[in-house]
Amino acid sequence: MFNLILFGPPGSGKGTQSEKLISKYGLIHLATGDLLRSEIAAQTPLGMEAKSFMDKGELVPDEVVIGMISSALDANPDAGGFLFDGFPRTEAQAEALDKLLKLKKTGIHLMLALEVSESELISRLLNRGKTSGRSDDVNEDIIRARIAEYHKKTSAVADHYRKFDKVKQIKGEGSIEEIFNSLCAEIGRKKSL
Ligand code: ADP
Repeated sequence: MFNLILFGPPGSGKGTQSEKLISKYGLIHLATGDLLRSEIAAQTPLGMEAKSFMDKGELVPDEVVIGMISSALDANPDAGGFLFDGFPRTEAQAEALDKLLKLKKTGIHLMLALEVSESELISRLLNRGKTSGRSDDVNEDIIRARIAEYHKKTSAVADHYRKFDKVKQIKGEGSIEEIFNSLCAEIGRKKSL
């Protein structure tokens, strides 16, 4: 099994790079943002609860996303590995993920952290908002709130995995192919160990 976390602030390119990585390495993509948006589209009680936080640019409560990830892991017993995108976003989520993977006799092998300047993030997200249909990408105040949540609660998650020497920083600016090649180079290094 090979389990990867693709990490970085909103707009850092996690979704774009995830699509390419899962097809190259045969991983199952677990993106909490996408899972939450499916719940909203299906108008489930979980989706309705999540929406009230997402519309403000705040994180959804830990127990909600941890429960979703736990079910997704159980639903894929034969996976060759998972790519976590947008999760874990808090220390509590990181600890819960480590426990869930340990129960399955596996763990996180690598965290790849995309680094992008704040002005570039805001311009990418506003641009995405023109076509994505995502209400949280249209309003600059909500975008800034999401980036603030990232600094306040999420960036420390990298320190959690840094303790285990599992984090590699990747420059997230440049062409999609250049960034993809940098990500693949780190994965290749890790897999050959
Ligand atoms: P982005 O990273 O570009 O903001 P996502 O699709 O990953 O987009 O997340 C959109 C929103 O969904 C977040 O702003 C947050 O409200 C919620 N969300 C996604 N993943 C999590 C998570 N792991 N914990 C809490 N909230 C989450």
